Amino acid sequence: MNDDIRDALSMSYDEWLSWVTGVLKEPRFRADQLCQWVYGKKILDCHSMTNLSKELRDRIACESLVKIPVQIRDLKSKDGTRKFLWQMEDGCRVESVLLDHSSHTTACVSCQVGCPLGCVFCATGKAGYTRDLTAGEIIGQFLVMEQRLGKNINNIVFMGMGEPLLNVENVFKSIRILNHPKMRNLGGRHITLSTSGVVPGIRDLADFEIPVRLSVSLHAPNDALRGKLMPINKKYPLSTLIEAMHYYKKRSGERITIEYVIMDGVNDDPSLAFEMAALLDGLGVYVNIISYNSVSGGTMKRPPEGKIKAFCAALTELSIEHEVRREKGTDIMAACGQLAAQQ
Ligand code: SF4
Repeated sequence: MNDDIRDALSMSYDEWLSWVTGVLKEPRFRADQLCQWVYGKKILDCHSMTNLSKELRDRIACESLVKIPVQIRDLKSKDGTRKFLWQMEDGCRVESVLLDHSSHTTACVSCQVGCPLGCVFCATGKAGYTRDLTAGEIIGQFLVMEQRLGKNINNIVFMGMGEPLLNVENVFKSIRILNHPKMRNLGGRHITLSTSGVVPGIRDLADFEIPVRLSVSLHAPNDALRGKLMPINKKYPLSTLIEAMHYYKKRSGERITIEYVIMDGVNDDPSLAFEMAALLDGLGVYVNIISYNSVSGGTMKRPPEGKIKAFCAALTELSIEHEVRREKGTDIMAACGQLAAQQ
């Protein structure tokens, strides 16, 4: 294969323009036409781009390649959630989840093959880390899900396999591509990046030119407990994480969402809700309580309903806005912490 062949889904709008005018020697509007086919109509095969001449389509086919993930599996949950298993060109596999709510759809995409962070409750972390995904591989998951769905997806969350802020270059590039008005034109408010607490990455996100939403996986309000659950806490303890969150809030003006996976006998004591309130004071966060979803080989359990209610009652008493997130896709292992790209 020719080394000059471009991975079209990894190309920014400026890269499309310079390729169209410089390599294809075509006028600039051809770049808009091509982006419209790919991102508007989800037509990824250039031979089907009917407003281009046959000669141009043949040249594009020789010069460029829209690399899309190969679908290995499409599992459907009783509640309508779908989990896709994809294989990349080098054989690596990742999963994505498509959540169909009554009023909108959300795609949860992966940004790494595996994850290096090893949170103790997470199936992805148990599998270890292989490599980062390219911008095109991230976008490919989203576009192919749109193709399968037959309509545009409203929201994207970087909450699948991997830590997005350890793959900042490719994740930010994919956001720029999805957000660009001549490409997918997905608004920043429809894009959420979820992090386990990579402090420099949160600061980068605060300074990023597109205001996207931030979600932080907290899971414990003190360093001793958080360090046991999430090894990253040793590198970026809570004091540094909270400082970075204040910086993001100040720069973006956006409200931060806190994810709190609640586990029986681990982090479900209402006293921890009080600690959490003190820790997050002044941030005006919204808290998602997620009752723990079992992963194979794991020893943790979800708390009984009464314990979750007691924890939430403490949050209410402390005036912390929260909800217990309705679980989706647990029967197909598509819920939070369950993605493992099982064969
Ligand atoms: S919870 Fe997120 S950051 Fe932690 S191991 Fe799993 S994928 Fe990685």
